[in-house]
Amino acid sequence: MTIRHIQLRPDADPARARRALGALGLWTTPLLDADGRTIAYTVDPPSPPVDPAAVTALPDVARVLRAQSPHPRVDARADTPVTVRRAHFGGPDPVLIAGPCSVDAPDTIHAAAAHAAAAGATALRGGAYKPRTSPYAFDGHGPDALAWMRAAADAHDLAMITEVLSEHDVDCVAAAADVLQIGSRNMQNYALLRAAGQTGHPILLKRGMAATTDEWLLAGEHLLVHGAAAVIYCERGVRGFDPAARNLIDLGAVALLAHAHRQPVIVDPSHAAGRRDLIAPLARAALAAGACGVMIESHPDPTRALSDAPQATDPHTLRAIGAALGLTPAPPVREVAR
Ligand code: PEP
Ligand code: MN
Repeated sequence: MTIRHIQLRPDADPARARRALGALGLWTTPLLDADGRTIAYTVDPPSPPVDPAAVTALPDVARVLRAQSPHPRVDARADTPVTVRRAHFGGPDPVLIAGPCSVDAPDTIHAAAAHAAAAGATALRGGAYKPRTSPYAFDGHGPDALAWMRAAADAHDLAMITEVLSEHDVDCVAAAADVLQIGSRNMQNYALLRAAGQTGHPILLKRGMAATTDEWLLAGEHLLVHGAAAVIYCERGVRGFDPAARNLIDLGAVALLAHAHRQPVIVDPSHAAGRRDLIAPLARAALAAGACGVMIESHPDPTRALSDAPQATDPHTLRAIGAALGLTPAPPVREVAR
């Protein structure tokens, strides 16, 4: 529970109290009585967590009032690692999730899985149901893609992550995937959050492109209320003002979720940058800010990608990124003929 109000003693020196509160890390706004005397401070804007005992120990403070958290289930999961097959979110190593934007064919998803494992990835992500801005763009091979991806993930002992776009598809996606992804456009689709949560799967929850961190955490609370095993938050960039990079990666929000809320948070530099040359440095920056993993779009042959080709990393670059993150590649698996 965070400190919201600080009531002063009748004989308090308000200016001294405010300096002491500021020194503890609290931003404050004075609350005045009818005579214009400062009798309390409200903590505003939100400030880092501070031990209430340290505040009540100040000579000018009478008592401290705390605010009830709007997301108790999220808070209860603070510092709880999430393990899905070999992927340990919040473990000692960062998690690399790799794979194509959309699953285009059985051979490419198998090759993508092999390259992902060789780069040290422990999860394969690809789209079977794609949210597309244009109704004319390729929107995924649906159930066929789910089956191809499941086989490819199993062949390389990778966790399978894929987006569910609609509550109508939740059962079929949950039957195939280990983790359901909720895309940016659906972060506040509460009917979908309910259905996805009810599967009991862990959920990868992408941040809405204009969502506040509170709205993001509350979307996580929706998932947990309905039964999700865990929520992994994914920052994918928010709407900024500068078109030079497609979206603005909010590393402040990543640090806030990782260090203040102590939640598993990863970054998707691919959809943030929209160009492959910036993915490696942004991935390193994400981990430095506190992310426990990164999700990178990769394709064995970007010339065959049916969506997001310009941001797809090739296998060589993916391997270099895995090495830069200090990951150990899985030993090669010899695939049986299909
Ligand atoms: C995706 O992950 O494939 C995607 C479409 O990203 P976002 O929901 O972040 O736009
Ligand atoms: Mn994509």
